[in-house]
Amino acid sequence: MADAFADSWRLPFNTSSRFGSLLGRGRCVQGNDGFESHTQTLRYAYDFSLPTGTPVLASRSGVVAAACGVYRRGGLRLELKGRANHVVLRHGDRLYSRYYHLAPGGVAVAVGQAVAAGDVIGRSGNTGYSGGPHLHWDVVDVEPQETAMLTLHADSPATARELGCAAAGFSGVLPPCEAPAVEGPAVWADPPTASADLRNPAAELEGAVVLIERCAEVDFLDKARRAAAAGAAAAVVVNTQAAGPELLTMSVPKVLTMRPEEYRLPLPCLMVTHLSGTEVRGAIESRRAAGALPPRLAVGRSPHFRPRRPEEAEAALGRGLSEFVPLTQPARFLWPGGRADGYQPRAGEVPPPAVQRAGRAAGRASGRVPASPAVITVLSASAPRDQGRGPWAWTPRVKGN
Ligand SMILES: [Zn+2]
Repeated sequence: MADAFADSWRLPFNTSSRFGSLLGRGRCVQGNDGFESHTQTLRYAYDFSLPTGTPVLASRSGVVAAACGVYRRGGLRLELKGRANHVVLRHGDRLYSRYYHLAPGGVAVAVGQAVAAGDVIGRSGNTGYSGGPHLHWDVVDVEPQETAMLTLHADSPATARELGCAAAGFSGVLPPCEAPAVEGPAVWADPPTASADLRNPAAELEGAVVLIERCAEVDFLDKARRAAAAGAAAAVVVNTQAAGPELLTMSVPKVLTMRPEEYRLPLPCLMVTHLSGTEVRGAIESRRAAGALPPRLAVGRSPHFRPRRPEEAEAALGRGLSEFVPLTQPARFLWPGGRADGYQPRAGEVPPPAVQRAGRAAGRASGRVPASPAVITVLSASAPRDQGRGPWAWTPRVKGN
């Protein structure tokens, strides 16, 4: 294969039992553009049927970029969206592989850990929005938790702390690493969920990094717009629920219902975890009690941030996506001898109607995967082009992951 990385990918599980495939172990139950949920930014994902507890293997050598094993439940209930245990690996060529629905406590690696292809990174399961034990595997071009940095300066630069954060799916441009960060006093919004125009004193908000509580009632965009209207330098939405949705789900864009010009924001926007929000709130309160000025927050790009290629950035912006929205990349599985069975995605191609129409069943036809593929090629491409237009226009839908 011409692809320089063609021989370095492998299936994320072993099909060692000769009866395994007969039992459906490792069978692809949803492929590209599957009607169940592999649409939009998940277009090129694969779901493999696996019994709970099956070792999940690194598809390729890399470094753990995200790992979450705290969730315990799974099913097709809406409240389980964004609550799948998962591991994300960062690879050397600006790609990330993702492994979702792992078992409760089924994460065997820690963020920052280096892994080799074939290393066990966890155990498969059925957590989150899932109709049965399976592994969701895909390759994306960006990992929001790797794109942004949020630094809390509570007392002095010497005590600066990095907080867990993710760039929002909607955001103004974050300052590059080499540029000065957007920095300002940390101010909690009043009302805390930004359910109305902010009532804080104008002088307090001007140039501030405004924190706003996440809630189900007020749209993220409205929160950020109210912060911008009040003169804030950046907006940080805090997930106040300890067991609330993970950051990645919070940053999902609204390409389905809104036009790009409706959701472009003029200021950098981040999401932070419950723990980070609690830490900032504590720092604000302790300094207020001491009669001191509020702590400062600095917002910038992470050292791991890699900008999209110019043509990709242009395509993404043309579709109203920020540069932080993960887009799945086409992955092909070739049988020994080079035989390509079923649909083999091509970079930038919209899967033909037959692949889409057949839904879950076509997941097999479109994504039939050999037990021991001779080669897996991941096409480091760009956003699928002509989304929603042309002869293969498709109906947007959101049905979890
Ligand atoms: Zn899936």
